[in-house]
Amino acid sequence: MFNALVVRKDEESGKTGAAVEQVSLEDLPQGEVTVAVEYSTVNYKDGLCIGPGGGLVRKYPHVPGIDFAGTVETSSDDRYAPGDRVVLTGWRVGEAHWGGYAQKARVRADWLVPLPDGLSTRQAMAVGTAGFTSMLAVMALEDHGLEPGHGPVLVTGAAGGVGSVATAILANLGHDVAAVTGRPETAEYLTALGAARIVPREELNETTKRPLEGETWAGCVDAVGGAMLARVLGQMKYGCPVAAVGLAGGAALPATVIPFLLRGVNLLGIDSVMQPYDNRLRAWQRIARDLPMDKLEAMVRPAVMADLPQLGADILKGRVQGRVVVDVN
Ligand code: NDP
Repeated sequence: MFNALVVRKDEESGKTGAAVEQVSLEDLPQGEVTVAVEYSTVNYKDGLCIGPGGGLVRKYPHVPGIDFAGTVETSSDDRYAPGDRVVLTGWRVGEAHWGGYAQKARVRADWLVPLPDGLSTRQAMAVGTAGFTSMLAVMALEDHGLEPGHGPVLVTGAAGGVGSVATAILANLGHDVAAVTGRPETAEYLTALGAARIVPREELNETTKRPLEGETWAGCVDAVGGAMLARVLGQMKYGCPVAAVGLAGGAALPATVIPFLLRGVNLLGIDSVMQPYDNRLRAWQRIARDLPMDKLEAMVRPAVMADLPQLGADILKGRVQGRVVVDVN
């Protein structure tokens, strides 16, 4: 038997409730690899899955946790052997499949990535889905020509998980990072991560009738979407890329196509869930190389499984700063 955060749904009221319970190995879903989980984390999707489900969870009782890192305990797949250190993000684990808020998880071998040398399981979850996605976004911007020296790179939702890691990586790579935040009290934190400039959220979250504004940004990692993304598109320098990662500010995009047509702006969609294996491997290796571990540590807020119901509610309200690392043991 081992501990897991189990979400149960009351069929009559439709309400869900989450609590730490004892679960047995036989309860785990099918999969080739059983992992002794060491750390997990809290993402926006976790907030939904710990709470009302948000249409993501199909079956109850459910164990959430969309990412985890740990050590292989048993494996019927040649690629993994007991003792291997692994990380998992995406593939709808923690939504459609039981996830990382448990001391053990059983998953398909295809979903795992071996941890690169130099990255601990705790550091991997300080990065988590949010940081992994930031790296994918930075890689996409680079693949579209972004290089240090091209001009300021904007990061929206900067004090959140995606934004914090993007800020630290971009600054470490030598970019001039402008961090957008709605929380002025995080300015010192963001500056310590490497932001050269803080942009107050109010400056960018209102729509404008002007489809084009001054050419300002050489690239953007956008965790916010909505009116802010629309506004940013009109402020990009000629031919420069924006990586659309999140929707913390809304899913609608009240924009015009003018920035694409007159300035050749590129809007790059970033999906972490179904990302092909080779690119996952590349992203984790880049994380180990390009994310300074002291900056990562500065983002960490430690937690245990009993904290998860509250943390899930907090992240849905945009109240979590940086990266929560959940020690499931
Ligand atoms: P967080 O809650 O940690 O961060 C989101 C940040 O966005 C907040 O901290 C806040 O930053 C800002 N924000 C919140 N509400 C608003 C608003 N109404 N208007 C403008 N800014 C706002 O979440 P994550 O960083 O983990 O995730 C960010 C987004 O990326 C989410 O939408 C998430 O679903 C998505 N995501 C997408 C992935 C993919 O595969 N594409 C993978 C992972 C995440 P501040 O306080 O600095 O203003």
